Amino acid sequence: MVVILKPGTSQNDVRRMTAYFEAKNFKVGVTVGVDCTILGLVGDTTSLDIHKLQQFDVVERVARISEPYKKANRKFHPDDTVVDVSGVPVGGGNFTVMAGPCSIESGEQITEIARDVQQSGAGILRGGAFKPRTSPYSFQGMGIPGLNLMLEAKAETGLPIVTELVSPKYCEIFNDKVDLVQIGARNMQNFELLKEAGKMSKPILLKRGLCATVEEWLMSAEYIMSEGNENVILCERGIRTTETYTRNTLDVSAIPVVKRMSHLPVVVDPSHSGGYTYLVEPLSMAAIAAGADGLIIEVHNDPVHAKCDGQQSLTPAQFDSLMKKAGKLVDLVGKTIVK
Ligand code: PEP
Ligand code: MN
Repeated sequence: MVVILKPGTSQNDVRRMTAYFEAKNFKVGVTVGVDCTILGLVGDTTSLDIHKLQQFDVVERVARISEPYKKANRKFHPDDTVVDVSGVPVGGGNFTVMAGPCSIESGEQITEIARDVQQSGAGILRGGAFKPRTSPYSFQGMGIPGLNLMLEAKAETGLPIVTELVSPKYCEIFNDKVDLVQIGARNMQNFELLKEAGKMSKPILLKRGLCATVEEWLMSAEYIMSEGNENVILCERGIRTTETYTRNTLDVSAIPVVKRMSHLPVVVDPSHSGGYTYLVEPLSMAAIAAGADGLIIEVHNDPVHAKCDGQQSLTPAQFDSLMKKAGKLVDLVGKTIVK
Protein backbone atom coordinates (compact mmCIF):
# COMPACT_ATOMS: atom_id res chain seq x y z
CA MET A 1 0.00 0.00 0.00
CA VAL A 2 1.24 3.51 -0.71
CA VAL A 3 0.22 6.59 1.26
CA ILE A 4 0.74 9.86 -0.63
CA LEU A 5 1.12 12.86 1.65
CA LYS A 6 -0.06 16.34 0.68
CA PRO A 7 2.45 18.82 -0.83
CA GLY A 8 4.04 20.89 1.93
CA THR A 9 3.66 18.22 4.65
CA SER A 10 6.23 19.11 7.33
CA GLN A 11 9.05 16.73 8.26
CA ASN A 12 7.46 16.46 11.68
CA ASP A 13 4.19 15.21 10.18
CA VAL A 14 6.08 12.76 7.95
CA ARG A 15 7.79 11.39 11.08
CA ARG A 16 4.42 11.26 12.89
CA MET A 17 2.78 9.26 10.08
CA THR A 18 5.78 6.93 9.80
CA ALA A 19 5.63 6.25 13.54
CA TYR A 20 1.87 5.61 13.26
CA PHE A 21 2.41 2.81 10.72
CA GLU A 22 5.51 1.43 12.44
CA ALA A 23 3.45 1.07 15.61
CA LYS A 24 1.14 -1.18 13.57
CA ASN A 25 4.16 -3.33 12.64
CA PHE A 26 4.60 -2.14 9.05
CA LYS A 27 7.97 -1.40 7.52
CA VAL A 28 7.76 2.09 6.07
CA GLY A 29 9.84 3.30 3.10
CA VAL A 30 9.83 7.10 2.81
CA THR A 31 10.30 8.65 -0.65
CA VAL A 32 10.64 12.43 -0.68
CA GLY A 33 9.69 13.87 -4.07
CA VAL A 34 9.73 17.44 -5.39
CA ASP A 35 6.03 17.97 -4.68
CA CYS A 36 5.05 15.32 -2.22
CA THR A 37 6.25 12.55 0.06
CA ILE A 38 5.21 8.94 -0.40
CA LEU A 39 5.11 6.30 2.32
CA GLY A 40 5.42 2.73 1.06
CA LEU A 41 4.02 0.23 3.55
CA VAL A 42 5.37 -3.32 3.65
CA GLY A 43 3.31 -5.90 5.55
CA ASP A 44 -0.18 -7.37 5.48
CA THR A 45 -2.39 -4.35 4.81
CA THR A 46 -5.70 -6.27 4.50
CA SER A 47 -6.98 -4.90 7.81
CA LEU A 48 -6.17 -1.26 6.99
CA ASP A 49 -9.19 0.85 6.05
CA ILE A 50 -8.31 3.17 3.15
CA HIS A 51 -11.15 5.59 3.98
CA LYS A 52 -10.01 5.92 7.57
CA LEU A 53 -6.45 6.71 6.48
CA GLN A 54 -7.77 9.36 4.12
CA GLN A 55 -9.17 11.21 7.13
CA PHE A 56 -5.67 12.25 8.23
CA ASP A 57 -5.18 15.95 7.35
CA VAL A 58 -1.83 15.32 5.72
CA VAL A 59 -2.94 12.39 3.54
CA GLU A 60 -3.64 13.19 -0.10
CA ARG A 61 -4.44 9.68 -1.37
CA VAL A 62 -4.03 6.00 -0.47
CA ALA A 63 -3.60 3.22 -3.03
CA ARG A 64 -3.48 -0.53 -2.65
CA ILE A 65 -0.91 -2.36 -4.73
CA SER A 66 -1.88 -5.87 -3.75
CA GLU A 67 -5.37 -7.41 -3.91
CA PRO A 68 -7.43 -7.42 -0.69
CA TYR A 69 -8.14 -11.16 -1.00
CA LYS A 70 -5.38 -13.49 0.14
CA LYS A 71 -6.70 -17.05 0.46
CA ALA A 72 -8.49 -16.87 -2.90
CA ASN A 73 -5.46 -15.22 -4.55
CA ARG A 74 -3.42 -17.16 -7.11
CA LYS A 75 -0.29 -15.25 -6.03
CA PHE A 76 -0.15 -17.26 -2.82
CA HIS A 77 -1.44 -20.52 -4.35
CA PRO A 78 -0.17 -20.80 -7.95
CA ASP A 79 -1.69 -24.23 -8.68
CA ASP A 80 -5.34 -24.73 -9.60
CA THR A 81 -7.45 -25.90 -6.70
CA VAL A 82 -9.37 -29.12 -7.36
CA VAL A 83 -12.50 -29.30 -5.20
CA ASP A 84 -13.69 -32.80 -4.31
CA VAL A 85 -17.50 -33.04 -4.37
CA SER A 86 -18.06 -36.45 -2.75
CA GLY A 87 -15.63 -38.09 -5.16
CA VAL A 88 -16.36 -35.90 -8.21
CA PRO A 89 -13.49 -33.47 -8.90
CA VAL A 90 -14.10 -29.86 -9.98
CA GLY A 91 -11.14 -27.84 -11.33
CA GLY A 92 -7.68 -28.69 -12.63
CA GLY A 93 -8.02 -30.42 -15.98
CA ASN A 94 -11.49 -31.73 -15.15
CA PHE A 95 -14.71 -30.55 -16.74
CA THR A 96 -17.73 -31.16 -14.50
CA VAL A 97 -21.36 -30.81 -15.54
CA MET A 98 -24.09 -30.28 -12.95
CA ALA A 99 -27.64 -30.61 -14.25
CA GLY A 100 -31.20 -30.87 -13.02
CA PRO A 101 -34.36 -28.84 -12.52
CA CYS A 102 -34.54 -25.31 -11.16
CA SER A 103 -36.70 -26.65 -8.34
CA ILE A 104 -37.62 -30.06 -7.01
CA GLU A 105 -41.33 -30.63 -7.64
CA SER A 106 -41.93 -34.32 -6.87
CA GLY A 107 -40.12 -37.59 -6.29
CA GLU A 108 -40.85 -38.85 -9.81
CA GLN A 109 -39.74 -35.56 -11.38
CA ILE A 110 -36.34 -35.35 -9.66
CA THR A 111 -35.55 -39.06 -10.01
CA GLU A 112 -36.52 -39.21 -13.69
CA ILE A 113 -34.43 -36.13 -14.49
CA ALA A 114 -31.52 -37.48 -12.41
CA ARG A 115 -31.47 -40.72 -14.41
CA ASP A 116 -31.66 -38.83 -17.72
CA VAL A 117 -28.90 -36.30 -16.99
CA GLN A 118 -26.66 -39.03 -15.61
CA GLN A 119 -27.06 -41.06 -18.78
CA SER A 120 -26.04 -38.00 -20.82
CA GLY A 121 -22.87 -37.49 -18.76
CA ALA A 122 -23.71 -35.14 -15.88
CA GLY A 123 -21.54 -35.71 -12.80
CA ILE A 124 -23.63 -33.83 -10.21
CA LEU A 125 -27.41 -33.40 -9.79
CA ARG A 126 -28.75 -29.87 -9.26
CA GLY A 127 -32.17 -28.94 -7.86
CA GLY A 128 -33.58 -26.23 -5.61
CA ALA A 129 -35.43 -27.15 -2.41
CA PHE A 130 -35.41 -23.54 -1.17
CA LYS A 131 -36.05 -20.97 -3.92
CA PRO A 132 -35.20 -17.29 -3.35
CA ARG A 133 -37.89 -15.79 -5.62
CA THR A 134 -38.35 -12.13 -6.55
CA SER A 135 -42.03 -12.33 -5.57
CA PRO A 136 -43.20 -13.72 -2.23
CA TYR A 137 -46.25 -15.07 -4.11
CA SER A 138 -44.15 -17.29 -6.41
CA PHE A 139 -43.37 -20.95 -5.61
CA GLN A 140 -40.81 -20.91 -2.80
CA GLY A 141 -39.64 -24.51 -3.18
CA MET A 142 -40.58 -27.67 -1.28
CA GLY A 143 -38.09 -27.06 1.54
CA ILE A 144 -36.78 -30.01 3.56
CA PRO A 145 -39.28 -32.53 2.05
CA GLY A 146 -37.88 -31.52 -1.37
CA LEU A 147 -34.34 -32.07 -0.14
CA ASN A 148 -35.35 -35.56 1.02
CA LEU A 149 -36.74 -36.34 -2.46
CA MET A 150 -33.44 -35.23 -3.92
CA LEU A 151 -31.65 -37.62 -1.58
CA GLU A 152 -33.83 -40.44 -2.94
CA ALA A 153 -32.71 -39.49 -6.48
CA LYS A 154 -29.12 -39.55 -5.21
CA ALA A 155 -29.63 -43.01 -3.67
CA GLU A 156 -31.07 -44.23 -6.98
CA THR A 157 -28.32 -42.82 -9.24
CA GLY A 158 -25.31 -42.25 -6.97
CA LEU A 159 -25.03 -38.65 -8.23
CA PRO A 160 -23.79 -36.13 -5.63
CA ILE A 161 -26.22 -33.23 -5.15
CA VAL A 162 -25.93 -29.44 -5.24
CA THR A 163 -28.71 -27.33 -3.76
CA GLU A 164 -29.09 -23.79 -2.44
CA LEU A 165 -28.70 -22.79 1.21
CA VAL A 166 -30.72 -19.65 1.99
CA SER A 167 -30.43 -19.39 5.76
CA PRO A 168 -27.87 -20.21 8.49
CA LYS A 169 -30.63 -22.15 10.26
CA TYR A 170 -30.26 -24.98 7.70
CA CYS A 171 -26.45 -25.24 7.93
CA GLU A 172 -26.49 -28.33 10.10
CA ILE A 173 -28.89 -30.31 7.97
CA PHE A 174 -27.12 -29.23 4.75
CA ASN A 175 -23.76 -30.18 6.23
CA ASP A 176 -25.18 -33.59 6.90
CA LYS A 177 -27.04 -34.26 3.67
CA VAL A 178 -25.78 -32.06 0.82
CA ASP A 179 -22.61 -32.74 -1.21
CA LEU A 180 -22.15 -29.22 -2.61
CA VAL A 181 -23.78 -26.23 -0.92
CA GLN A 182 -24.92 -23.46 -3.26
CA ILE A 183 -24.92 -19.81 -2.18
CA GLY A 184 -27.15 -18.03 -4.69
CA ALA A 185 -26.56 -14.75 -6.50
CA ARG A 186 -28.93 -12.87 -4.20
CA ASN A 187 -26.99 -14.00 -1.14
CA MET A 188 -23.48 -13.43 -2.45
CA GLN A 189 -23.04 -10.57 -0.01
CA ASN A 190 -25.06 -12.05 2.86
CA PHE A 191 -21.96 -11.97 5.04
CA GLU A 192 -23.48 -13.79 8.02
CA LEU A 193 -24.49 -16.65 5.72
CA LEU A 194 -21.00 -16.66 4.15
CA LYS A 195 -19.35 -16.88 7.58
CA GLU A 196 -21.56 -19.82 8.53
CA ALA A 197 -20.81 -21.51 5.18
CA GLY A 198 -17.14 -21.04 6.05
CA LYS A 199 -17.62 -23.23 9.12
CA MET A 200 -19.19 -26.08 7.14
CA SER A 201 -17.22 -29.14 6.07
CA LYS A 202 -18.93 -29.40 2.67
CA PRO A 203 -17.69 -27.55 -0.44
CA ILE A 204 -19.46 -24.33 -1.45
CA LEU A 205 -20.66 -23.23 -4.90
CA LEU A 206 -20.59 -19.43 -4.73
CA LYS A 207 -22.63 -17.72 -7.43
CA ARG A 208 -21.71 -14.23 -8.57
CA GLY A 209 -24.06 -11.48 -7.36
CA LEU A 210 -26.34 -9.76 -9.88
CA CYS A 211 -24.27 -6.57 -9.90
CA ALA A 212 -21.04 -7.76 -8.29
CA THR A 213 -17.59 -6.91 -9.56
CA VAL A 214 -15.05 -9.72 -9.82
CA GLU A 215 -13.27 -8.30 -6.77
CA GLU A 216 -16.46 -8.23 -4.67
CA TRP A 217 -17.14 -11.83 -5.72
CA LEU A 218 -13.62 -12.90 -4.70
CA MET A 219 -13.99 -11.04 -1.39
CA SER A 220 -17.13 -13.10 -0.73
CA ALA A 221 -15.11 -16.26 -1.41
CA GLU A 222 -12.53 -14.85 1.02
CA TYR A 223 -15.26 -14.59 3.71
CA ILE A 224 -15.93 -18.33 3.38
CA MET A 225 -12.25 -19.30 3.15
CA SER A 226 -11.17 -17.12 6.07
CA GLU A 227 -13.50 -19.14 8.33
CA GLY A 228 -11.64 -22.32 7.38
CA ASN A 229 -13.58 -23.74 4.41
CA GLU A 230 -11.22 -23.43 1.45
CA ASN A 231 -13.29 -25.65 -0.86
CA VAL A 232 -15.01 -22.96 -2.89
CA ILE A 233 -16.18 -23.22 -6.51
CA LEU A 234 -17.07 -19.93 -8.20
CA CYS A 235 -20.07 -19.74 -10.53
CA GLU A 236 -20.52 -17.03 -13.17
CA ARG A 237 -24.28 -16.80 -13.81
CA GLY A 238 -24.61 -13.56 -15.76
CA ILE A 239 -24.78 -9.99 -14.52
CA ARG A 240 -27.27 -7.16 -14.91
CA THR A 241 -26.68 -4.91 -17.89
CA THR A 242 -28.88 -2.60 -19.97
CA GLU A 243 -29.73 -5.49 -22.33
CA THR A 244 -33.31 -6.77 -22.22
CA TYR A 245 -33.24 -9.53 -24.85
CA THR A 246 -31.44 -11.77 -22.34
CA ARG A 247 -32.27 -12.33 -18.64
CA ASN A 248 -28.71 -11.40 -17.67
CA THR A 249 -25.49 -10.94 -19.63
CA LEU A 250 -22.99 -13.79 -19.43
CA ASP A 251 -19.70 -12.14 -18.53
CA VAL A 252 -17.46 -14.40 -20.60
CA SER A 253 -14.42 -12.26 -19.78
CA ALA A 254 -14.89 -12.94 -16.09
CA ILE A 255 -13.82 -16.55 -16.67
CA PRO A 256 -10.21 -15.85 -17.75
CA VAL A 257 -10.03 -12.84 -15.42
CA VAL A 258 -10.98 -14.88 -12.36
CA LYS A 259 -8.76 -17.76 -13.39
CA ARG A 260 -5.84 -15.34 -13.63
CA MET A 261 -6.55 -13.76 -10.23
CA SER A 262 -7.62 -16.88 -8.33
CA HIS A 263 -6.80 -20.59 -8.08
CA LEU A 264 -10.44 -21.52 -7.43
CA PRO A 265 -12.43 -23.45 -10.07
CA VAL A 266 -14.95 -21.46 -12.14
CA VAL A 267 -18.14 -22.99 -13.51
CA VAL A 268 -20.73 -21.25 -15.66
CA ASP A 269 -24.53 -21.24 -15.42
CA PRO A 270 -25.75 -20.58 -18.98
CA SER A 271 -29.41 -21.06 -17.94
CA HIS A 272 -29.71 -18.03 -15.65
CA SER A 273 -27.26 -16.05 -17.82
CA GLY A 274 -29.33 -16.19 -21.00
CA GLY A 275 -32.74 -16.89 -19.55
CA TYR A 276 -33.99 -18.73 -22.66
CA THR A 277 -33.58 -22.34 -23.78
CA TYR A 278 -32.16 -21.39 -27.19
CA LEU A 279 -29.26 -19.54 -25.54
CA VAL A 280 -28.10 -22.39 -23.31
CA GLU A 281 -26.07 -24.23 -25.95
CA PRO A 282 -24.20 -21.25 -27.47
CA LEU A 283 -23.40 -19.84 -24.01
CA SER A 284 -22.18 -23.26 -22.85
CA MET A 285 -19.84 -23.46 -25.84
CA ALA A 286 -18.56 -19.93 -25.15
CA ALA A 287 -17.92 -20.85 -21.51
CA ILE A 288 -15.92 -23.97 -22.46
CA ALA A 289 -13.87 -22.02 -25.01
CA ALA A 290 -13.13 -19.30 -22.43
CA GLY A 291 -11.71 -21.80 -19.93
CA ALA A 292 -14.59 -22.71 -17.59
CA ASP A 293 -14.12 -25.79 -15.40
CA GLY A 294 -17.71 -26.89 -15.74
CA LEU A 295 -21.35 -25.98 -16.30
CA ILE A 296 -24.50 -25.95 -14.19
CA ILE A 297 -27.55 -26.35 -16.41
CA GLU A 298 -31.30 -26.43 -15.77
CA VAL A 299 -32.99 -29.53 -17.22
CA HIS A 300 -36.71 -30.33 -16.87
CA ASN A 301 -38.75 -33.27 -18.14
CA ASP A 302 -41.76 -31.02 -18.79
CA PRO A 303 -40.48 -27.43 -19.14
CA VAL A 304 -43.87 -25.99 -20.14
CA HIS A 305 -45.34 -27.02 -16.79
CA ALA A 306 -42.23 -26.35 -14.67
CA LYS A 307 -42.93 -24.47 -11.43
CA CYS A 308 -39.86 -22.33 -11.95
CA ASP A 309 -37.67 -21.28 -14.90
CA GLY A 310 -39.22 -23.57 -17.55
CA GLN A 311 -38.47 -20.94 -20.22
CA GLN A 312 -34.75 -21.47 -19.79
CA SER A 313 -34.75 -25.23 -19.13
CA LEU A 314 -33.53 -27.87 -21.56
CA THR A 315 -35.48 -31.09 -22.08
CA PRO A 316 -33.44 -34.23 -21.37
CA ALA A 317 -33.12 -34.73 -25.17
CA GLN A 318 -31.80 -31.18 -25.67
CA PHE A 319 -29.37 -31.73 -22.79
CA ASP A 320 -28.16 -34.96 -24.37
CA SER A 321 -27.54 -33.22 -27.67
CA LEU A 322 -25.68 -30.37 -25.91
CA MET A 323 -23.48 -32.85 -24.04
CA LYS A 324 -22.44 -34.52 -27.30
CA LYS A 325 -21.40 -31.20 -28.85
CA ALA A 326 -19.84 -29.88 -25.63
CA GLY A 327 -17.82 -33.11 -25.29
CA LYS A 328 -15.99 -32.37 -28.54
CA LEU A 329 -15.09 -28.84 -27.46
CA VAL A 330 -14.01 -30.02 -24.00
CA ASP A 331 -11.67 -32.49 -25.76
CA LEU A 332 -10.33 -29.72 -27.95
CA VAL A 333 -9.42 -27.51 -24.96
CA GLY A 334 -7.63 -30.47 -23.37
CA LYS A 335 -9.99 -31.19 -20.48
CA THR A 336 -11.82 -34.36 -19.49
CA ILE A 337 -15.53 -34.60 -18.70
CA VAL A 338 -15.92 -36.24 -15.28
CA LYS A 339 -18.91 -38.44 -14.56
C1 PEP B 1 -30.58 -21.23 -9.16
O1 PEP B 1 -29.49 -21.74 -9.44
O2 PEP B 1 -31.63 -21.86 -9.14
C2 PEP B 1 -30.63 -19.78 -8.88
C3 PEP B 1 -31.66 -19.23 -8.23
O3 PEP B 1 -29.58 -19.12 -9.36
P1 PEP B 1 -29.06 -17.60 -9.09
O4 PEP B 1 -28.81 -17.51 -7.62
O5 PEP B 1 -27.82 -17.55 -9.93
O6 PEP B 1 -30.13 -16.68 -9.58
MN1 MN C 1 -33.63 -21.28 -11.81
